[in-house]
Amino acid sequence: VVTGHRRAWRIAADTPDPELPVVTIEDLGILRAVDDSGDTVAVTITPTYSGCPAIPTVAADLTDRLRAAGYRQVDVRTRLAPPWSSDWITERGRQRLADAGIAPPDRSGRHVAGPLALLFAPAPSVRCPRCGSVRTRRVADCGATACRQMYRCEECREPFDAIRSR
Ligand SMILES: [Zn+2]
Repeated sequence: VVTGHRRAWRIAADTPDPELPVVTIEDLGILRAVDDSGDTVAVTITPTYSGCPAIPTVAADLTDRLRAAGYRQVDVRTRLAPPWSSDWITERGRQRLADAGIAPPDRSGRHVAGPLALLFAPAPSVRCPRCGSVRTRRVADCGATACRQMYRCEECREPFDAIRSR
């Protein structure tokens, strides 16, 4: 039996992202905290980037879902610090994005430390979700939504969307 805090977390966590409905807000790593006290619940989320136009939709969806589950008062708060990073996307989220043909951001080379980090840290590579090649090229800065970028694979020639890395 899932009760109290964990129940509210689960209901909030399963909210699909409005821009990327193949993943939940938990998969994207934007769900930060769920605090409930009786019939009141406070949900804290961090936008994927400041000014994310999807945030009011996420807040409305969270409110609807939690009210339907019996919580009378729902407060959705946004927290901007620390800023969201694509490293917060969970393994399940990465898999779901890849399964939908959307390239998750690459994490390789992010953790090079020390004074040589800037010299040796490779530019994050974007892997083709269809053939796995890293010979990909960004073709446009605006993909289907604000947090995506359009790429084309040099290997299989297929265009695809990638999640903006930051
Ligand atoms: Zn390819």
